[in-house]
Amino acid sequence: MADRPHVLVLGGTAEAVALANAAAPHFDVTYSLAGRTQSPSLPDNVTVRTGGFGGIAALSAWLLKRDIDLVVDATHPFAEKISANATTACDMTGSPRLRLLRPAWTSVLGDDWREVTDIAAAARLLPEIGSCAFLSIGRQELAVFADVPGVSFVARSIDPPDGDNALPGATWLTGRGPFTMEQETTLLRDHGIDVVVSKNAGGDATYAKIAAARDLSIPVVMIARPDPPLGETVATVDAALEWLDATGGNHR
Ligand code: NAP
Repeated sequence: MADRPHVLVLGGTAEAVALANAAAPHFDVTYSLAGRTQSPSLPDNVTVRTGGFGGIAALSAWLLKRDIDLVVDATHPFAEKISANATTACDMTGSPRLRLLRPAWTSVLGDDWREVTDIAAAARLLPEIGSCAFLSIGRQELAVFADVPGVSFVARSIDPPDGDNALPGATWLTGRGPFTMEQETTLLRDHGIDVVVSKNAGGDATYAKIAAARDLSIPVVMIARPDPPLGETVATVDAALEWLDATGGNHR
């Protein structure tokens, strides 16, 4: 291992940016993004790479070619494929890997959650619950809602939709969290929303819509997380830093 261990942070979350920033003074950090967002939040003073690696074998080869010592998978809880790929690729190369995964939300008194296993199940359930749904699940999987009968949609994403992921007839809003409770309450009221569809993303940045729905007695169709990959997992940036220190030889 070199003097400054080389860390790959698989990113796309606020925690990944915070971890890369905190690790940068002590480690050579490469921050990796899929390239889905036009102007992503980025850490400072680290190498940034963008775009898929090309699958498990290509990621393994990339890890070896770039002399990566440590991998932290800090991707979104719903980024199932890259997490699985990273787990297998790190097993193949013998690279220590950590999953940084923020805790899921849990319902509290006053919440009316209808928990479903995936997005298709959310789409099937919707007509029984409401007629004007707020979707803030990103742009990639909206086609599933295209044929839901009797429900109109207000959808929000960081970037506007393109042809491949548009939901015909939906009202589109763009915006990047964190959102306040006041903003979310106004949005739900102004658009006459009677059901919210959300992934159980966890974290603070997008929780206000859940709290606002509770406040307005609006049900939430809550999409459960996919199973996380096996292997060592921590819930906070501080814990991930401790792992880097311990596994990378305490270079701080
Ligand atoms: P995914 O389905 O797990 O991954 C699909 C493919 O995208 C992967 O196989 C990989 O391509 C590439 N990829 C994904 N994340 C990457 C990264 N950080 N660096 C390099 N390549 C990456 O991923 P996703 O759910 O579309 O998420 C894509 C990105 O958006 C992730 O960085 C994630 O943290 C972020 N994000 C996702 C969500 C969500 O709801 N899914 C929400 C907020 C942010 P190859 O196989 O070619 O290597």
